[in-house]
Parts: sequence; structure tokens; C-alpha cells
Amino acid sequence: MRRYEDTYKQKGLRKQLVDSIRQKGITDENVLAAIGNIPRHYFLDTAFESIAYDDRAFPIGEGQTISQPYTVAYQTQLLEPRPFEKVLEIGTGSGYQACVLAELKMNVFTIERQKRLFDQMKVFPFKSKYPNLRLFYGDGYEGLPSYAPFDKVLVTAAAPHIPEKLVQQLKIGGKMVIPVGGQEVQRMLRITKISETETEQELFDNFSFVPMLAGKK
Ligand code: SAH
Repeated sequence: MRRYEDTYKQKGLRKQLVDSIRQKGITDENVLAAIGNIPRHYFLDTAFESIAYDDRAFPIGEGQTISQPYTVAYQTQLLEPRPFEKVLEIGTGSGYQACVLAELKMNVFTIERQKRLFDQMKVFPFKSKYPNLRLFYGDGYEGLPSYAPFDKVLVTAAAPHIPEKLVQQLKIGGKMVIPVGGQEVQRMLRITKISETETEQELFDNFSFVPMLAGKK
């Protein structure tokens, strides 16, 4: 059994990470506090423990990655998270982003298409800190119709287009943050659902995510 320990050294490194993310332009203090409160090294293989607080992505198995902390902060800030909102995350991966949303007191529903990653997350002890976090195994393109509508949707894999079903599952006034584009690079979009048939789109910076793939595995 792995022992999870959050040392003074790791707390110190985490503070530095938060400072560096702030310097890169993240201003939402609640988001910065959430990053500061969550031991990111718990989400990584022990082999990465000493570099867990570098602002970079790391492999988490199955060809997937835990997003760079700056990217997590950037997407979370764009989402304008508010306590008790229902948020649907596509791409649980390591569960780190989902825990950031849960730390912000949102009601989190997160979907992962890879069974092995889903199973790992199910038994991850730190998750029990968040009764407001629920895991689902399935295809994010389908969303979670039985739990819809959502205040917010956050996609953490590169989408080739805006998934129509996810727009349908947003409340009127709800927002979706999603990286859209090709394999190499994607543009961060924020979509606001302004009526049953209309959306508004805002464009942000370029990022590089692993692909959003259809179906379960
Ligand atoms: N949010 C994650 C980042 C994971 S990377 C974290 O904080 O660690 C993207 C994840 O999206 C991968 O785990 C990948 O398996 C998953 N994914 C890709 N396509 C998906 C889909 N259609 N439905 C659900 N998950 C998907």
C-alpha cells in the first residue's frame, strides 16, 4: 500500500508553484488557493514525486497525461466556478482537475473512457475527501443525460469539434470550456448557452491536449 504524505518540502514547492502560476496571469484567488491546497504529488507515480510541482504535464499511464497546473488553473478560471454549481468534466484522467473543482465546492460529475484509469481513480484514497465528487465510466461525447442539465461543462481533452450533446446538457446561461482543434494544437473556447438554440463563443489561448476519442475502452 502506498503511503501518502505531504511534507513541509512539498508544501513549500506547492507555494512556489502557485506563485509561478499567478505570475503567468491567473488572478482567481479561489482557484490559486485550490491548487495550493491539493497535494499534486498524490496523483502521480512515486517516480515523479520530486518533480510533481514543476509546472508541466506528466504521464499517468494508458498514454494519457495529468495536465500542466497552469492549464488546470487557466481552464478552471475560465469556467468561473461557483460553490454548489453542477459541473461535468470530460476526461477524469488522474482526477487532479476534478479534485480542484471539488475543492472549489462544486458538485462534480467526471467521466473517463478508459476503464483502467477509472478503476484507479475509484480506489484513490484522497478522493474520499470530496463527497461532492462522482466518477463515471463512459464516453464523454454522450455526456450524462440522466444528471443534466449542468451549470458548467469542462472538457480536458482535445475536441475536434464542439460536441452537440454537451451543449444540450448545459443550462441556459451555463458555460462550457473546451479546447477545440487538431492533433497538434487547440484553441481554448468558452461557450455560453444563451437560449435553447443559441450559443455565444469566446476565443482564448492555444494549448495542446491529448485527443478526445469516441467510445469506451
Ligand atoms: N483532467 C485530467 C486530464 C486528463 S488527460 C487530469 O486532471 O488528470 C485527458 C483524459 O481524457 C484522458 O484520461 C483520456 O482517457 C480522457 N478521454 C479522452 N476522450 C474521452 C471521452 N470521449 N470521454 C471521456 N474521457 C475521455
